[in-house]
Amino acid sequence: MIRLAIQKSGRLSEDSLALIRECGIDLPDTKNKLRCVAHNFPVEILFLRDDDIPGYVADGTADLGIVGLNVVEETRKPVEVAERLGFGTCRLSIAVPKTFEWTGLEALNNKRIATSYPNVLQDFLENAKISASIHEISGSVEIAPGIGLADAICDLVSSGGTLLSNGLKEVQVILQSEAVIIRDTALSPKKTALLDQLKFRIRSVHRARNFKYILLNAPNEQVPAVIGLLPGMKSPTVLPLALSGWSSVHSVIQEDQFWEVIEGLKAAGAQGILVVPIEKMIL
Ligand code: ATP
Ligand code: ZN
Repeated sequence: MIRLAIQKSGRLSEDSLALIRECGIDLPDTKNKLRCVAHNFPVEILFLRDDDIPGYVADGTADLGIVGLNVVEETRKPVEVAERLGFGTCRLSIAVPKTFEWTGLEALNNKRIATSYPNVLQDFLENAKISASIHEISGSVEIAPGIGLADAICDLVSSGGTLLSNGLKEVQVILQSEAVIIRDTALSPKKTALLDQLKFRIRSVHRARNFKYILLNAPNEQVPAVIGLLPGMKSPTVLPLALSGWSSVHSVIQEDQFWEVIEGLKAAGAQGILVVPIEKMIL
């Protein structure tokens, strides 16, 4: 029996349960349960708050967990990422009021940044040699500048809509995140074999899902930003357009991620975005 902790209720709950079911694992009714055992696979599911999952996996209370990479990085528990899951995609970004004249990261020197991710932010600022003060708050971070609590925020963004409606603009991505499976670093050989079976099933599920081919045009200086927004693609094709100063970017994208990045792509100056089906995908 292997123990897998997932988020009890929140943005990752439904997709975590759906993935488990798509892997052919039959669960009893999970409503209002704190734990349950599958009918046809030796797995017990624990339903927990996402912030607690890395700690439970690190101390061996759970063997595996499904949680956002943002939480893994922030909690700094000694766990290993066993598999990326492709859902719950979002980014941890710095945002400032629309009226803030953004001249680059140096603009943050001596400023106050509100966040629920003090550890990840601190690492980022140290690396970038920026000295700003971090104000840790646990929720509603995006209202901090409006009420005079901070000059900037560092928070999770998916579509960017919440930022916009709070009069903020995203200026720097500091972490690209998605749900991942984390594992206890000291699993027994039996449990490792069960994890391998799970990973095999997850990969098959993923491969079978709809991929799309995306083509878009962007000004050359925006190409790095556009590429940064395309999830999962290490190396998209970039071709010069006949119109000088412009490039065409081609990439493969998962349909469920498409709607999450489309606004970002448009904001980055992408035009003529085409999404076309792929008939065969040979890996
Ligand atoms: P819990 O009650 O379990 O502590 P929570 O309120 O901390 O839940 P949720 O808001 O449910 O957490 O988010 C869970 C995870 O979903 C985040 O840690 C992140 O990885 C992912 N996520 C994806 N998109 C977003 C988004 N736009 N805002 C916040 N989280 C997002
Ligand atoms: Zn949480």
